[in-house]
Amino acid sequence: MFEDLRDLYQEVIFDHNRNPRNFHVMENYDRMVEGFNPLCGDRLTLFLKLNGETITDASFQGSGCAISTASVSLMTEIIKGKTQAEAEELFHTFHKITTGKSEELQLEAVGKLAVLAGVREYPARVKCATLAWHTLDAALKNQQQSISTE
Ligand code: ZN
Repeated sequence: MFEDLRDLYQEVIFDHNRNPRNFHVMENYDRMVEGFNPLCGDRLTLFLKLNGETITDASFQGSGCAISTASVSLMTEIIKGKTQAEAEELFHTFHKITTGKSEELQLEAVGKLAVLAGVREYPARVKCATLAWHTLDAALKNQQQSISTE
């Protein structure tokens, strides 16, 4: 990765950590799931509003490290207006780029989320980046009220 690209990525993460988007409790939500990453202490509550198959609104509350906060902030931005199937597809692609299991990184497919691809180099931080998405997955499946990455 080029140094200037790395700086840009870090700047986006810092920005979302300092000013998290959609950081509020949602009223009249359709889904609410709490996510916890005991490895780092990241906690978040994800709220979703659904209209049929479409995610019409997303917000969160909680506290965590810069990576987890930036990840959930970016996620709430990107999933608004997406169908549940599209969100699940993003989750799988995001999981691949953060765990580095894909030889061919599909960075373009995830847009802004590519800024978090750098966590592949820090296995201990992968769960910080994926917590938001595991929580989303649980919310869409509507089976659990809370999840833990451990
Ligand atoms: Zn963390």
